[in-house]
Amino acid sequence: MVLPPPLLRLLLGSDPERHAAIGLTLSTSGLYLFNAGLVLAAVPLGYASAKLAPYLLACMLTGAVVFYALLRSGLSRRLPDPNLVMAQALYCALTVAVGYLTVHMHFRGVVLAFMPAILLPTQFALSPRRIRQLTLAMFLLLIGTTAVNWYVNEGETHIYGDILRCAYVSAILLAVCEVALRVSRARHDMKLKSEALAKALHKVEHMASHDQLTGLINRHRMHEILDKEWHRLQRQHHPTTLIMMDLDHFKRVNDSHGHQVGDAVLRQFALLADTCLRDADVVARWGGEEFLVFCPDTTPEQALVALNRLREQVRFQPFLGQHPSVTITFSAGLAAVRPSESMESAIDRADQALYQAKEAGRDRFMQSP
Ligand code: GH3
Ligand code: MG
Ligand code: MG
Repeated sequence: MVLPPPLLRLLLGSDPERHAAIGLTLSTSGLYLFNAGLVLAAVPLGYASAKLAPYLLACMLTGAVVFYALLRSGLSRRLPDPNLVMAQALYCALTVAVGYLTVHMHFRGVVLAFMPAILLPTQFALSPRRIRQLTLAMFLLLIGTTAVNWYVNEGETHIYGDILRCAYVSAILLAVCEVALRVSRARHDMKLKSEALAKALHKVEHMASHDQLTGLINRHRMHEILDKEWHRLQRQHHPTTLIMMDLDHFKRVNDSHGHQVGDAVLRQFALLADTCLRDADVVARWGGEEFLVFCPDTTPEQALVALNRLREQVRFQPFLGQHPSVTITFSAGLAAVRPSESMESAIDRADQALYQAKEAGRDRFMQSP
C-alpha cells in the first residue's frame, strides 16, 4: 500500500534513515490490533477468559503506543538500541505469554505459534549474540508460561497437551533461531566486506589523485581542480595567481647525497610549502622537483609575500638534521590568471617566468607580465 507523502511523513517522521524501524513498529502495532480483535471475538465464543482479556488488550495497546511514541519522537535515539528491536521483541513475546494464559484449549496452539514468528524480523537488525539471548528468553518464557498455566488452571488443563505444545513450539523456535543466526551472520559478513571495499575504494581514489612520495595532490587532480576553478573565475572575476616552483640544482642533491636523501628533501619541501601557504592555496606536485600552486583570491603581489615567507622557512629550516650539508633554494614563476584566459595558458606563462628566474641566477621569483 502506497500512502501519500504528507501522511507518510506524519506517520514516519522526516528522517528517512528511521523510516524502516518506525514502519516495522507500526506494522507490529497492526498485528497487536489484529490479535486484540481475535481475542475480543473469542471471548463470547468461550475461547478466551473474559476476566483476563481486558488486561491482555491493555498490555498490547500500551506496548504499541509506547514503542511508537519513543521511536517517532526520537527519544529512543539516546538509548543503546535506538530502534528498540530487542525490547520490542521481548515485549511481544511477553504479550504472547499473557495471551496464552488468556485463551482456552483450542485457541492455545495458535497463540504460541506467534512466538517463533517474533524472531523473524530481528535477523535483519540483531547480532547473532542478541538473537541467541532472545531465543533463550523466549524458551524460558514458554516453559514458565506452561508451568504457570498448569498451576493456575490446575484441573482444567490437560497438562500433557500443554507440554507437547511447548515442546513443539520450542522445536520451531530453535529452527527459526538457526535460520535467523545464519542471516544475521551473513549480514555481518556483508557489512565487513562492504566496509573493506569502501576502504579499498577510498585508497584507490587517494592513490589516483595523490603523489605517493610527498602526499600532495598530483598533476591529474590539480587539472580537475583548475578546470572547476576556471568556471568559477569566469563568473566571479576574483584575482587568481598561479605559481610554478622548482628546486634549484636538485640533481646535485641526488648526486652528492643519494636518491633517498633527495626523496627526503622533496618530502620536507612539500610539507613546508603546504603548511606555509594559506589554507585556501592548493599545492600540487607537478613533476619531479616542480610544484604548482593555485592561489585563489590572490594578486601576484600577495603571492610574492607568501613565497618570501616560504623562502625564509626553507632557508632556516634545519633541512634534514642528519645531513646538515644539504642546503636548498628554489625559484618560482608567477602568473595572474587573465580574464577569459585558459588555465593552460596561465600555467605556461608561470612556467616561462620560472625559466627566466632560473636564467637570472636561481633562488628568485619572477612575475609574468
Ligand atoms: P635546475 O636548477 O635547473 O632546476 O636544476 P635541477 O638539477 O634541479 O634540474 P634538473 O632538471 O637538471 O634535474 C632534476 C632532478 O630531479 C633530476 C631527477 O633525478 C630529480 N628528481 C626528479 N624526481 C625525483 C624524485 O622523485 N626523487 C629524487 N630523489 N629525485 C628526483
Ligand atoms: Mg630543478
Ligand atoms: Mg625541474
